[in-house]
Amino acid sequence: MNELIQIRHLQKSFGNHAVLKDINLSVKDGEVLTIIGSSGSGKSTLLRCINLLETPTGGEILFRGDNILSDDYSLPAYRAHVGMVFQQFNLFENHNVLTNCTVGQVKVLKRSREEAEKIALENLDKVGMKQFASAKPSQLSGGQKQRVAIARAISMDPDVMLFDEPTSALDPEMVGEVLKTMRSLAHTGLTMIIVTHEMKFAEDVSDRVIFMDQGVVAEEGTPEEIFHHPKEERTNIFLQRIL
Ligand code: ADP
Ligand code: MG
Repeated sequence: MNELIQIRHLQKSFGNHAVLKDINLSVKDGEVLTIIGSSGSGKSTLLRCINLLETPTGGEILFRGDNILSDDYSLPAYRAHVGMVFQQFNLFENHNVLTNCTVGQVKVLKRSREEAEKIALENLDKVGMKQFASAKPSQLSGGQKQRVAIARAISMDPDVMLFDEPTSALDPEMVGEVLKTMRSLAHTGLTMIIVTHEMKFAEDVSDRVIFMDQGVVAEEGTPEEIFHHPKEERTNIFLQRIL
């Protein structure tokens, strides 16, 4: 497998608060990587640096070998390769479900409306939301909104999908349907980086897990290693607390 993303010595500070301290990790094509760790450990900031919603204050991020932080790198092209699903859905409330899934395709990828709608409907079908194509987000449950957000993101044909606690804002009965959707996406071979507190899901779906603590990667390993044989005491303490 080829390296899709390589992160080297990544740092991010807000003022004098060092939130990410020398993060090193790489993600291969087709890999599913989960990031676990306590609230405030820097997980969201790491994802936001990967898609450049935040500008790192040090280090490098290579995408297919090219440094995305160099001045001559094309950010619009990069952003089109990276899909993101947030805790808070971030759907366009004034547009219906179908339009939510087509605007990016038309504006950024320059697809025709007809082609964009065809692709959107295929992806809405995959997440079980095709019959809601003309509904407004306000008519949907949280779980349904999140499935639309996933369909919208994958309609852009991303090379990698970032998920930042996609089920944390959901009522408990909605969590399963979103995890099921993500599980089936993982099985298509899509590269995914997932921040989650759903440990059973993380164990099942991940190729690799990283545990973050206070801005560093405290431990990295297979799900078996991290969840059943953690080497670091702080990984153990975190898991005891959450499981
Ligand atoms: P996590 O997602 O693991 O809960 P975050 O990455 O959201 O952690 O936050 C890590 C730390 O960075 C927290 O202490 C948070 O207050 C701080 N932080 C995050 N974003 C900002 C920001 N825009 N400005 C200042 N501090 C921030
Ligand atoms: Mg977070």
